[in-house]
Amino acid sequence: MAQRLSDLTLGERPGGRTALAARWIVGHAEGRHRLLRDGEIVIDGAEVLYVGPRFPGEVARRIDLGDMLVSPGFIDLDALSDLDTTLLTVDYGPGWATGRVWPRSYVERGPYDMYSPEDLAFQKRYAFAQLLLNGITTALPIASLFYREWGETVEEFEAAADAAAALGLRVYLGPAYRSGGMVCEAPGVLEPVFDEARGMKGLKDALNFATRIAGTAEGLIQPILAPDRVETCTLALLQKTMAASAERGIPVRLHMAQGRTERMIMNRLHGTTGPQWLARHGLLHDRLIAPHAVEAEPEDLALYAEHGVTIAHCPLVYARDGEMLRSFRECRERGIRIGMGTDTAPPDMVLNMAVALMMGRAAEGGPHGLTTAEVFDAATISGADALKRPDLGRLQPGAKADIAIFDLADQRFAPTIDPIQTLIFGATGRVTRAVFVDGRLSMRDGAVSGLDLAAARKIAQEQFERLLARYPERTFGHPKVKDMFPGTYAPFKPR
Ligand SMILES: [Zn+2]
Repeated sequence: MAQRLSDLTLGERPGGRTALAARWIVGHAEGRHRLLRDGEIVIDGAEVLYVGPRFPGEVARRIDLGDMLVSPGFIDLDALSDLDTTLLTVDYGPGWATGRVWPRSYVERGPYDMYSPEDLAFQKRYAFAQLLLNGITTALPIASLFYREWGETVEEFEAAADAAAALGLRVYLGPAYRSGGMVCEAPGVLEPVFDEARGMKGLKDALNFATRIAGTAEGLIQPILAPDRVETCTLALLQKTMAASAERGIPVRLHMAQGRTERMIMNRLHGTTGPQWLARHGLLHDRLIAPHAVEAEPEDLALYAEHGVTIAHCPLVYARDGEMLRSFRECRERGIRIGMGTDTAPPDMVLNMAVALMMGRAAEGGPHGLTTAEVFDAATISGADALKRPDLGRLQPGAKADIAIFDLADQRFAPTIDPIQTLIFGATGRVTRAVFVDGRLSMRDGAVSGLDLAAARKIAQEQFERLLARYPERTFGHPKVKDMFPGTYAPFKPR
């Protein structure tokens, strides 16, 4: 029966087989993405049944999408899951002056969570909806710890699991834990402080949570272990983390080789870089996902290649500061797997692919720096491979029906020669028309099931403004908000 997407019920898995016909489909065959023109994909339950020319078998409904691109949904290895605070570092000076390193006075007064548990639960739902809006079907959430009392809580991750199940987003969840952090003792003077017991408690809670949620919501929810950043973890914490990962086969995400401050602190604490410190203790492995490698040394990259570590590449957040991975090409030639992440607002994977392409080419001084296929593979296949999920990131029979549909006929888009080029050069996920996750219609025309996004936007703005008002409390010297974050232009003064 001929139908339209609007005939399907948002948030539900249509009964029987659904054939989606489209101008372009990114199918998968013989281990590679393939471009299928004027083809069909058939979804049966949670899985892809068929990709090819018109399906000869019976279907419950056939939807002709017209001038659209049917693509595997994106896999976001560092998926923004809060109200982005990195926006408060760009253009506003160093982290210690803009609330990203606690001053001693704040630590002594007792750090506290600047959001309520209800706020945090809301943010997970709001952020997950944003991911779906951008064609992301699998997410490994990341949030800032700077406004937290210490690490992320199990309670908010229970809320995250509920949000993912309700909205229909595939997630790998684990509260971030750490054994230490930096304290700002004087302008620009940062001292690491550690509380080993607190880190171990965080790991224990994370492991209990992992046991509880693994495979729930019909398999949509899976665990990861998320020690926060290499310089905030003790050796014992990482040893226990990696041992648990090996024993249970759970992926680990650990930020390292990501910043200059990290390098300085690691050098002071351990006399080497994060990756080399881990390698020295036998802690690098192929379940490890490591954002962002922009500060990686050649030796670090050689170790990633040797041990099968995946880089989570988040080019947008770094490009804003004029920084980049050096380089995508070199990492690939070394044989390192590169997956993609959004990490900032907007959590737009298409924009991130565009920036990856431009920065990857800039890093090598020409188009040979990166191809559109390589960057599209990174956002789909490589993310799936990092999670050891051959059933994700590619549309072929037996794969999960995790699908993003992009409108190539959008008024603001250039005419199409090649659909992948059109999408990436167009550089916006706003053309995402619909998303299926596990065969379920999770997003259509900017709407998700069970969340009013217009109302949610207002709540998000109010929460963010409340957070901003408290920023001075945990910033060195306790400056006024208006002095910390001056406007792009001076305020207008009527004469
Ligand atoms: Zn990150």
